[in-house]
Formats: sequence, C-alpha cells, structure tokens
Amino acid sequence: MCSGRVDLEFVLRAFANGMDGVFIGGCRLNECNYITHGNYDALNMVLLCKKIMEHLGLDPERLRIQFMSSGDGIIFSEAVDEFTRKVKALGPLGKREQIDADELKSGLQDVRKLVPYIKIAKRAKLKARLENPQDYEGFFTRDEIDRLLGDVTSYHINPDKCQACMICRRRCPVEAISGGKNRIHVIDQDICIKCGTCFEVCPPRFAAVDKICGQPVPPPIPEEKRTLARKSASK
Ligand code: SF4
Ligand code: SF4
Repeated sequence: MCSGRVDLEFVLRAFANGMDGVFIGGCRLNECNYITHGNYDALNMVLLCKKIMEHLGLDPERLRIQFMSSGDGIIFSEAVDEFTRKVKALGPLGKREQIDADELKSGLQDVRKLVPYIKIAKRAKLKARLENPQDYEGFFTRDEIDRLLGDVTSYHINPDKCQACMICRRRCPVEAISGGKNRIHVIDQDICIKCGTCFEVCPPRFAAVDKICGQPVPPPIPEEKRTLARKSASK
C-alpha cells in the first residue's frame, strides 16, 4: 500500500506491541504516480513520530523511513541491513533508554489515545511538502510536542447548562457522549479523543461544553440526576 497510508497509530501500535524498531519503505519523493504524493505525508508523520518518541524517552533512531523505487533492490537490502544492525545495537525497546517497562507501556497507551487529537492539532504541518532534507530536523520540535502533549484540552458538559438538544451526541465521531431526549448529556473521558467537535457544535445560546486545561475534569453527574427539569414541565 502507499506509504501515506501508514498512520501514526500503526507505528505507535507496533512499539506498544513490543517491536524494537519500525522501518517504513516508500516510493521516491516526486515519483508518485498519483497527485496525492502520499510519501510526503508519510515523511511528515515520521518526523512527528520521532519527536513523540523523544517525548516518551525513546531513541528516535528506532524509526526509519526510506524512499526507493521497486527497482532499488540493493538500496532496500542495504537500508534494511543497516537498520537491523542499528536496532540490534539499541537492544530491546526502552532498555538502552532506561525507561521502566510499565511507564513505557502507559506512556505509549496514553499517546495512542491522543492520535486523533495530535493529527487535528498538527493537520496543517502534516500536509506540508518538504522538498529540502535540511528542513526535516526542525520541522517539528521537541518543545512543540512537549507542549502539545502536556496541555491537552479536555471537554466537559456543564450539567447546569445542557439542554439535551442531542446535537453533540450525533456529531461526536467516537460515540463518547451519552444522553437522550430530556437527558443531560455526559462525555465518557475514556472514549473521548479530544477533537473539540462537541464544543464547536453546542449552540451558543446553551454554551454547555467547557474546555478544561491544566485541571481535573469534574466527575460525571450521577445517572439519577440526569433527567432535565424543564421550567415549563415543572410548573
Ligand atoms: S471532544 Fe467531544 S465530540 Fe470530540 S470525541 Fe470528545 S466528546 Fe466526542
Ligand atoms: S449540544 Fe450542548 S446543549 Fe445540546 S446536548 Fe450537547 S451539550 Fe447539551
């Protein structure tokens, strides 16, 4: 398949499943037969993923992308040999980096949940076409990724404002919102991917969705208190 189809989640999943290194082979840049040029997307994803790996304490050399044509057998075998030697020298994932196995597992798990959020936050850069290899190194920075992953915005529905119009529930891409007619809506924080759609679609006259950053999200309102007490109905 096109290297542009190799999602950030695929790479993180490989590491979460215990792979010590990930090698991605893509067509030569500017030789794509289609207008999509997905190999540029793959390159941007790899540059981003390397910074995420640094954020997790992993050596970014464990991830490599190599561009070549189907006739470049020698380049392919040399690249794979070299990468295999490098990964063998680095040893099992996290060992050379001295990361506690449980810490690494939960770090990878947390970042994987944030993949949609990361892709939305960085969508403009992920669509860029980097023509000059000298631009690769500083394209994503460690500071930028530390900030992105350190200041994750969560979303919470204010039970005093929600009018159960159900718009957010219908528009949530991962079915993280429960609720119904005359029921105050609630976000399941374990399912939410922080896309912000609920915040954008909640009608301004209700403005019931809050953005929360740097503090804990309030616990969900108990089931028995979710029935909406409408003023007209309560008279
Ligand atoms: S931010 Fe809102 S719309 Fe997006 S996944 Fe979370 S609950 Fe759903
Ligand atoms: S869109 Fe706003 S008012 Fe409507 S159900 Fe969602 S949170 Fe409540």
